[in-house]
Amino acid sequence: MTDSLIGPEPAYDVDDEYRPEPEPIPEPPAWQDGSFRIGIHTSIAGDIAGALDAAAKLGANALQIFSASPRMWPRGGIRIADADAARFRSRRAELGLGPLVVHDNYLINLASPDPVMRTRSIQAFHDELVRAVSLGADFLVAHPGSGLGGDKAQAIAQIAQGIRQAAKGVKLGGLRILVENTSGMGSAVGARFEEIRAILNQTADLPVGVCLDTAHVFEAGFDITGEEGLARTLDLVDRTVGLHRVFLLHVNDSKTPLGSRVDRHEHIGRGKIGLAAFGRILNHPRLGPGPQGVPGRAFILETPIDRPGDDRRNVRALWDLVGVNVQQAPKAENGFSMLRRGRKASAPRAKRKKRKTPKKASAKKG
Ligand SMILES: [Zn+2]
Ligand SMILES: [Zn+2]
Repeated sequence: MTDSLIGPEPAYDVDDEYRPEPEPIPEPPAWQDGSFRIGIHTSIAGDIAGALDAAAKLGANALQIFSASPRMWPRGGIRIADADAARFRSRRAELGLGPLVVHDNYLINLASPDPVMRTRSIQAFHDELVRAVSLGADFLVAHPGSGLGGDKAQAIAQIAQGIRQAAKGVKLGGLRILVENTSGMGSAVGARFEEIRAILNQTADLPVGVCLDTAHVFEAGFDITGEEGLARTLDLVDRTVGLHRVFLLHVNDSKTPLGSRVDRHEHIGRGKIGLAAFGRILNHPRLGPGPQGVPGRAFILETPIDRPGDDRRNVRALWDLVGVNVQQAPKAENGFSMLRRGRKASAPRAKRKKRKTPKKASAKKG
C-alpha cells in the first residue's frame, strides 16, 4: 500500500473540480403523510392483484397479504412472474394503498433444531424477501420462530443468523423486515420484548423493525386494557426495542384471557381487550402516525371472518375509533366481503376454529 505522504504528487485532474449534484433524497411515499393508515389482511386466492381491490372495497387504505400459499412449502422457490408483479405494482399505485405488508409463510422456523427444516426455512425466507421486493412491499412481517424446547438464547441466535443468511445477496431497496411479537405459545421466541431486542441487535446490519400484535401482547401477559397498563407496556417496548422501530401494529382483539399464551384473534371490541382499550391504543400519540409516532405507521387487522361482512365491519370499527367518519374514510363497497355467503372463509385467522389438532404450526401463528 502506498503512503500518500511519500508517494509521487498526484497529478492535477480537472475533473476534481466537478462536484456532482448530491443524490436527491427520495420523496417519502404518500402513505407517510401523517394520515391514519388502516388495513386488513386480504386474500390472494385467484389473482394476487385482486387482494388490492379487496382491500379498497373493504374501505382500507393499507393492506397485508401472503405472497404465496402460507401453509405449503413453495415448490422450487416460486417467484412471481415479472408481468404479474408489474401489474400488481401499478394497480396498487392506482388505488393509493400503503403501506403494503407481506406476511411470511407459517411453516418457516428459522430456529428449528432440525437442520433440514432450518435450511428449508432459510431458503423459504429468502424467497419471501425476493417476492416482497418484486411486489414493491414496504414490510415483510416474520414470526421469530421456536427452538422447540431448546435453549432460548440459542434459538434467538439462530433466528438472527437465519435472517442474515436469507437476506444475503438480496437488494432490499425500500423493504424492511419486521419481527412480530408472539403470545409465547410453547417455546416460541418473541413473547418478551427483550428477546426481540436481541434479534434486532444481532441483525443490526439489516433494515429490521418490529410489528406489534395487540392480541399477542395481551396473551403474553401485558395488560393493555387500561390506560396505565398501556402506558407501562409502551414504556417497556420503548426501553427494549424502541417505539420508533415499531413500524406496524396488528390490531386484533383476543378470544383468550390475559397471559393465556394461547393465540386466538377476535373481532375488534368483542374479545377480552375490548373496544375502549382499542380506542386508547389507536389514538395514543406515541402509537399514531403523528409527530410523536412514526409517519405511516399502519394498523392492520387479522380478525376472523365468521360471517360475510365481518371484514368490512372491522375496518369500519377502526375508522370509527380514530374519528374518521364514513364520508371522510376510503369508500367501502356496500355489501362487499371476502367471505361470500355459504362459502368457507379464506382469510388467515378464520380457519383456525376448524382445526383441533394441536400439532398444527398455524395455531401459534399470526
Ligand atoms: Zn399478527
Ligand atoms: Zn396471532
